[in-house]
Amino acid sequence: MTTVYLDNNATTQVAPEVLEAMLPYFHDYYGNPSSMHSFGGQVAQKIRAAREQVAALLNASPDEIIFTSCGTESDNAAIRSALATNPDKRHIVTSRVEHPAVKSLYANLATQGYRVTELPVDKNGILDMEQLVGSLTPDTAVVSLMWANNETGVLFPVEKAAALAQERGILFHTDAVQAMGKIPIDMSKNTIHMLSLSGHKLHAPKGIGVLYVRKGTKFAPFLIGGHQEKGRRGGTENTPSIVGLGKACELAARHLDRENTSVKRLRDKLETALLARVPKCRVNGDTDQRLPNTTNISFEFVEGEGILLLMNEYGICASSGSACTSGSLQPSHVLRAMGVPFTMAHGSIRFSLSIYNTEAEIDFVIEKLPPIIERLRGMSPYWTSLNQACATV
Ligand code: PLP
Repeated sequence: MTTVYLDNNATTQVAPEVLEAMLPYFHDYYGNPSSMHSFGGQVAQKIRAAREQVAALLNASPDEIIFTSCGTESDNAAIRSALATNPDKRHIVTSRVEHPAVKSLYANLATQGYRVTELPVDKNGILDMEQLVGSLTPDTAVVSLMWANNETGVLFPVEKAAALAQERGILFHTDAVQAMGKIPIDMSKNTIHMLSLSGHKLHAPKGIGVLYVRKGTKFAPFLIGGHQEKGRRGGTENTPSIVGLGKACELAARHLDRENTSVKRLRDKLETALLARVPKCRVNGDTDQRLPNTTNISFEFVEGEGILLLMNEYGICASSGSACTSGSLQPSHVLRAMGVPFTMAHGSIRFSLSIYNTEAEIDFVIEKLPPIIERLRGMSPYWTSLNQACATV
C-alpha cells in the first residue's frame, strides 16, 4: 500500500537534496567546528554557509541567526530572553490559539507570578487588533503571536502587531514555525525582534531549529554553556542537521512560488470536492488569510479519530482536531477558541500538503473519503435519527 501523506504541518519528508547535503557531515567531515585544526575548520566554514542560506530566506543578516534544537527551544529561548532582559516587567501578551510550545510555557510562567493575556480570536480564527492594542501596558515585557496557525493555517498580521509593539517599546516575538517556507518572510520589512523556526516543517530533519534575533535586541541565552553561536546558545553544533537546514532553506526559496500555485491548487481542489460531495461539512478558519497548504474541515456527526482510522486503511495520513488526552476526547483549543460547535469540532480533520503531493493522490482522497464519512455516519444513531426526521417532514 502506498502512503498518501497529507500531514505536512505535523512533519515533512526530508528532501532528497537535503539528505545528500547532510550525509558527508556524518562520516567524512565529523570534526568539531570549534577545533583549532583545519579538519574542524572546514566544518565551521560549512556552518557559516548554512547560516547564510537561512538568513537569505529571511532576508536577514547571518549574525541574526542562532541554531537551536527545535521550534520549541526557539520559542522558549525567545520568551525567556524577553523576560530576563526586562526583569521589571511581568506581563505577557499572546493569543488563545498558540501551539503548546508556547502555551505550556505560559502556563508555567503564570505559576511564577507572570500575568498572561491570551487574546481571543473570532469565528474565523482572526485576531482583533484593537484588543491587542488595549492589552498593552507599561508592564508588558513581550508580545508573542504565531505567524500561521498549525491547525487551521490562519495567518495573523504579525508585522502590523510588531509595529504596534515597537511604538510602545515592547519586544515582539513570533512563532513562524508553520509559516517559514510556505509564505514569503522578509525581515528587512518588519520590526519583529525574534522569530522561531523549525527544520522538520520545511523538509529538513527533526531536531534542528533557528531563533532569529534582530541586531540590537538584548538577548539572554537559554542554554548556557560553551561559546558556540557567539555565546547565545551553548552546545556543540548539530552539523549535519545545520547543513541540511541550510539546503532546505535554499530549496524553500526556490519553491515559494510553487507553494502558492501548485500546492494551493491541489489544496483547493481537495477542499472544493469534499465540500461538494459530503453533506454537513465546513472549513474551519478564514479561507483568504491562510497558508496555501492547509485546510481544516469539520464533518458533522462523526469522530475525527474514526475518520483517521478508516483513511489509514487506504494509507491516507492526516490529523484530527481533537487530542486524546487523559482518556477524554477534548476538541482542540484552537477550534474551541473559534467557537466551533462541539459536534463540528469533534469531526475535524486537518489536511496539510507539500510540494511532493500529486494530483493523483488528491483524486484518490476525493474518491475514498466521502464513502468513509457515509459509513461512519451510518453507525451514528444521532445522524440516523436526524435523517429519519428529515425524511418524515
Ligand atoms: N510552533 C508551531 C506553530 C508548531 O506547529 C510546532 C510543531 O508542530 C512547534 C512550534 C514546535 O516545533 P518543534 O517540533 O520543532 O519543537
